[in-house]
Amino acid sequence: MSIKCYILSPRGFCSGVKRAVSMAEQVCKLYGTFYVIEDVIHNKIFMDSMWKCGVVKVTSIDEIPDGSVVMFSSHGVAPHVVARAEEKGLTIIDGTCPVIKAVQSDAINETRLGKKLIIIGDRAHAEVIALIGCADKSTNALVVSNESDIEMLPNFDGITVTYFTQTTLDCTRVQAIVEKLKEKIPHIEAISPDNICYATRERQDVVRAISESMDLVVVIGSAHSSNARRLRETALSAGARNAVLVDSKANFDGELLSGVSAMAVTSSASTSEAVIQDFINYLAGTFDVMTENFSVGNNGDS
Ligand code: SF4
Repeated sequence: MSIKCYILSPRGFCSGVKRAVSMAEQVCKLYGTFYVIEDVIHNKIFMDSMWKCGVVKVTSIDEIPDGSVVMFSSHGVAPHVVARAEEKGLTIIDGTCPVIKAVQSDAINETRLGKKLIIIGDRAHAEVIALIGCADKSTNALVVSNESDIEMLPNFDGITVTYFTQTTLDCTRVQAIVEKLKEKIPHIEAISPDNICYATRERQDVVRAISESMDLVVVIGSAHSSNARRLRETALSAGARNAVLVDSKANFDGELLSGVSAMAVTSSASTSEAVIQDFINYLAGTFDVMTENFSVGNNGDS
């Protein structure tokens, strides 16, 4: 019997990634070589095309020759990084997603009002590192990744504090962490209940809606993409028997289809539609698979 394969929507580039990719491609054509301190987007296939074009990755702005071109990634950079690039006379191409830019702007305003920041997210992720840098002093921003980090927080009696979240976290996990944070710091403030972006939320909603009846969910995306990893976790926590993350058809193991009667295919917000279509064509052309589109409500990038 054929495997029923649901192709989930929305999928493919979100608006922030589309913008950064288009800027990077134009800069490549215009300048050839330019510098980055972080992958423009967290997608191996796209970044491989950038390295081929002559893009150079460095670990700090200070390594970039004066007068060169630097592009900031869709995840943004801290204000002191922008200031250093300006000091060195670099031509700045700012690929920061507007959603992240707005969160950074709120964080800067809150810190100017004398508030401490608590950031819920992954302390090693570029977006969180940039958000820490929005506080006037790094000691005024603390990162929590889970409930046990909250236990370790100092006492905030008499101190005003606002929390922010990374934009690509698991929506349901964030709610639980926020509840715990409010128990520990009852006077904690927030500009919005969380900062999870529309693209992360919509993709997770669709995966959550279908996963219980799936033997396998394939997320097309890179291992260092936060929203790709969250989609895989969402599929498993919503009841999928198995869920895997693959960059493209090249690293998909066909053995995974053994015993599968229903599967779903989705992608991170940093995977192009071309890579997804290539995967779907490979599935349909190699295995006994019947595809069908699936979405919930009124999803779709805006
Ligand atoms: S996933 Fe969300 S925050 Fe990240 S680039 Fe896309 S729209 Fe922006």
